[in-house]
Amino acid sequence: MCGIVGYIGNKPAAPILLDGLEKLEYRGYDSSGIAVINGHDIDVSKAKGRLQVLREKTNNGKDVIGTTGIGHTRWATHGEPSDVNAHPHLSQSGRFAVVHNGIIENYISLREKLIEKGFEFVSETDTEVLAHLFEYYYKGDIMDAMIKVINRVEGSYALGVLCSDYPDSFIAVRKASPLIIGLGNDENFIASDVTAILKHTRNIYYIEDEEIVVLKRDEVKVYNSDREEIKKDVFTVDWDISAAEKGGYEHFMIKEIEEQPKAVRATISPRIKDGKIVLDDVKLTREDIKNINKIYIVACGSAYHVGVVGKYVIEKMCRIPVETQIASEFRYCDPIVTPRDLVIVISQSGETADTLEALKVAKNRGARILSIVNVVGSAIANASDDVIYTWAGPEIAVATTKAYSTQLAVVYMLAIYMAERLGNITGGQYKKYIKDLEALPELIAETIKNKDQLAYLASRFYNCKSIFFIGRNLDYAVSLEGSLKLKEISYIHSEAYAAGELKHGTISLIEDGTLVIALASGNELFDKTVSNIKEVVSRGAVVMSVTTKERSMTGIADHVIHVPVTNDIFLPSLTVVPLQIFSYYVAAEKGCDIDKPRNLAKSVTVE
Ligand code: GLU
Repeated sequence: MCGIVGYIGNKPAAPILLDGLEKLEYRGYDSSGIAVINGHDIDVSKAKGRLQVLREKTNNGKDVIGTTGIGHTRWATHGEPSDVNAHPHLSQSGRFAVVHNGIIENYISLREKLIEKGFEFVSETDTEVLAHLFEYYYKGDIMDAMIKVINRVEGSYALGVLCSDYPDSFIAVRKASPLIIGLGNDENFIASDVTAILKHTRNIYYIEDEEIVVLKRDEVKVYNSDREEIKKDVFTVDWDISAAEKGGYEHFMIKEIEEQPKAVRATISPRIKDGKIVLDDVKLTREDIKNINKIYIVACGSAYHVGVVGKYVIEKMCRIPVETQIASEFRYCDPIVTPRDLVIVISQSGETADTLEALKVAKNRGARILSIVNVVGSAIANASDDVIYTWAGPEIAVATTKAYSTQLAVVYMLAIYMAERLGNITGGQYKKYIKDLEALPELIAETIKNKDQLAYLASRFYNCKSIFFIGRNLDYAVSLEGSLKLKEISYIHSEAYAAGELKHGTISLIEDGTLVIALASGNELFDKTVSNIKEVVSRGAVVMSVTTKERSMTGIADHVIHVPVTNDIFLPSLTVVPLQIFSYYVAAEKGCDIDKPRNLAKSVTVE
């Protein structure tokens, strides 16, 4: 959350910063701002609202002079979205300008101290202490000031800092918030995420916590906090630039829904060689797997819902107990994790603060960490013993679709891989699973074709005040994701319930006309779920059911959405798709800002 971009080169900085921020707007969009060095002054332009407001205010950046600058698109944590609270923040004398992603946890005591020293604060943000601290510690050596600042602050940060005494350079640092360095020809960049600079360069440095970067037009140097220079390897990004563009689609979300077959194929195909699952990045031996006592899956949001599917699938196939936990809860519950446990963490960005902190807790207790992430070189990937990358490409819509689907594909591969090593499945079953896995992208593509029916259903139900999702086992796991998708982009209240649990209280909310979306795809529990559907129908519910093509729901549900047939364990990859598409069309009917839903941002890098 929050997007940072910085530029130094020969070209006017402001239009480049605005373009970069546009690519990062999914990370935060309540306000934005830029600061550019003009001679020996720093000019700042900021505006509440979408980036477009800043564009208009600066004449698309043309009114801002200078070739060195930093920009920010905000997701407020401290202080309401406003012009004043928008970044960049200036120090008292205007010598320093700072953009910040993260939270300064000790900002109150720092603020009090700085006020005592005569500094005046204009904003409510935690970030402003950074700008004043730079000035407080600055005695003519910016590196010295930077080291003192990072030693003094607690919390998380990615920073871009301009100093008017150094018009030909700027400085950056990160700790527990993402920041990458882009290396161009006679121009260099910082950004929260590569999509912001992909147009200019594919060559990047990943930097570690507390490494300090000094950028000049023709040089980038990275130092540790002892001022020793660190040699960095250049990493070349192979993402296709069109992957980060809308390419004719109305929204990134629908584009990303349609990209799911390709993304899932890219995740699965390279890992199946000669009929075997090959996980090159997993160093778990057969012995290691046999010795696992318990598996934790730890994640947030949709990634947590992948973990709920993972629990059912891994337990069924591997017969190892699995506990799926929300990262922000796991972190503080004093978890009983031992060196014989495997902790699987799942995060699209690989930077999710709650997940990263949970990972550290598990690691400190000696557990082995296997992460499933999309962004190569991200903090979670770096901190893990084993990493399995999802090859989803950039995901821009805040509501995840293709990241969820590729994470799910990885969970399946991992489950089959471990089950085979444990000797829990026969050679024949192993072959069949792999065949079904390889067929999944095609089946997802077939499921996506059903868009018209879902658009029609959305046009019928977009006015609902409350929608319930029910299902059992894997269908329940997918219900959780369907409900989240709907509420995050359409703002309709919705809840997901294990179908058998509804009668223990929540069924009292069902009244005439309440829409219940019932997932009844699994064979084993089909009849049981049908009984639960009948219970809600008896109380007036309208039922939209998701089931496989071989099932007829005539006389059971009012509307039926069919998905292709596959092995029960893989059905979540298919049943989630109509729920994504339905949510998308409901949000579209309601005129919601689908890619940038209110109050949300992607890549949640604050706790
Ligand atoms: N804590 C800072 C603020 O509220 C930065 C938030 C962000 O990362 O967007 O301004």
